[in-house]
Amino acid sequence: MKRIDPRTLIWWAASAFSVVLALACAVLLALPPPGFAWQERIIAAVLLFLLGLGSASLAAHEHRQKEHYRRLSEKLGSVYEKVQATFEGMKRAERLSALGQLSAGLAHEIRNPLASISGAAAILRRNRNLDPKQARCVDIIANECHRLDGLLTSFLNFARPRAPRFQTVELAAVLESALALADHGVHGKTIHFDKQVEPELPPVECDPEQLEQVLLNLMLNAIEASPDGETVTLSASACDGRITIRVIDRGHGVAPAHVDRLFDPFFTTKEHGTGLGLPVAHQIMRQMGGSLQAHGNPDRGMTFSVILPAKR
Ligand code: ADP
Ligand code: MG
Repeated sequence: MKRIDPRTLIWWAASAFSVVLALACAVLLALPPPGFAWQERIIAAVLLFLLGLGSASLAAHEHRQKEHYRRLSEKLGSVYEKVQATFEGMKRAERLSALGQLSAGLAHEIRNPLASISGAAAILRRNRNLDPKQARCVDIIANECHRLDGLLTSFLNFARPRAPRFQTVELAAVLESALALADHGVHGKTIHFDKQVEPELPPVECDPEQLEQVLLNLMLNAIEASPDGETVTLSASACDGRITIRVIDRGHGVAPAHVDRLFDPFFTTKEHGTGLGLPVAHQIMRQMGGSLQAHGNPDRGMTFSVILPAKR
């Protein structure tokens, strides 16, 4: 059975008591009991009225207290969420720092010979005397070098992200441009885009290029997870000095066993995925003083929330 809060009980009792006293006051004035002089009636009515007033003010006080505690508990809830997110971030950063430094150095070292291989392939490709088989081999070398270079760039962005270049940004333009870019990422299926931006959003202090990169990554993931004909929603709203941008899809969602690994580098369930999109996005948001959170929707699909402080 639901437990009733003692404050609610006091509030109800005090309110009921003041109503009863108000009624008693009215009855006493309208239908006095026999033998009561009019002075006694007035004194009794005034006493009852004062008692009712006291009880009503107690009820109002209890009501104010209740509201105060409710707001306090909401604030505590949001502080708890922030602490939890910071703690998770710290755990992840700790796990990655040593390994990250090592592999970032390695990635950097691989890049130079890769550039030489790619350059040599380009020189070979210019040779008109290559037979088709040789030309195909040179193309494979060039394409694979290009793919590896992309992977190394993503990885180095993650391991050594550039510092954000902060500006005061009107979000509408960034969202519009992320949507336009994401539209190019829809290959061979129909995806509808729904933009829900609260009017008069306050400006934010952020790096617009990096924010666009984060949103594009989230939108591309959402598109890839969505079945043909579904809608991907991009929404933005302001609350408590923070701006929340959400990318909501109605796709296949994330298996419960994978939820904790979403932001780990190289975690991917895609055949040609890099598993670097989300960790890079997470890292960028932390550097900008914001955060990135993932939640499964109650019915279907995922919601990724980018949270930024509004400009003070
Ligand atoms: P990649 O896209 O290269 O796989 P990401 O870091 O962008 O790397 O994503 C990691 C994994 O997280 C994806 O492989 C996928 O399993 C999961 N994921 C990310 N976004 C979504 C989404 N919107 N819906 C379902 N799964 C997702
Ligand atoms: Mg991705």
